[in-house]
Amino acid sequence: MSSIIIACESCGAKNRIPEKKQHLQPRCGKCQTDVSLLGRAVPVNLGDEDFQQFIKMTQIPVMVDFFAPTCGPCQALAPIITNCANRYLGKIVIAKVDTSMHPGTAVHYNIRGVPSLLFFKNKVVIDQLVGAPPELTLINKLDKLLQH
Ligand SMILES: [Zn+2]
Repeated sequence: MSSIIIACESCGAKNRIPEKKQHLQPRCGKCQTDVSLLGRAVPVNLGDEDFQQFIKMTQIPVMVDFFAPTCGPCQALAPIITNCANRYLGKIVIAKVDTSMHPGTAVHYNIRGVPSLLFFKNKVVIDQLVGAPPELTLINKLDKLLQH
């Protein structure tokens, strides 16, 4: 499982925060102070082996970016997706699936092209976007996801 290494602002201890637990308000393992991931949050990498389980156990909305490493529009979208991971930290989980490595999940959700974005609430897809949206369009969608 991929992790982020981050130093505690209070005691300096280095903490290893698993990507999948970024939204759970992590605490320093040494002094129990809340560890701030703001500016350091990254999209959660999901694959065929863990996608369904992650969606099932996550209590807050999830947005998933289905991408391929060789796709230009996907590469252009990547920094916007990372910005969203920070903007919505703790409120919406921002995840991504590399469809070249994990075709099973893409087939399951009828993904016909990349990038495609799926928006999950209460473990079901309630919205989607095909293609790379402008950042503002994406932010509007994510704000709406929080309001429903
Ligand atoms: Zn600490």
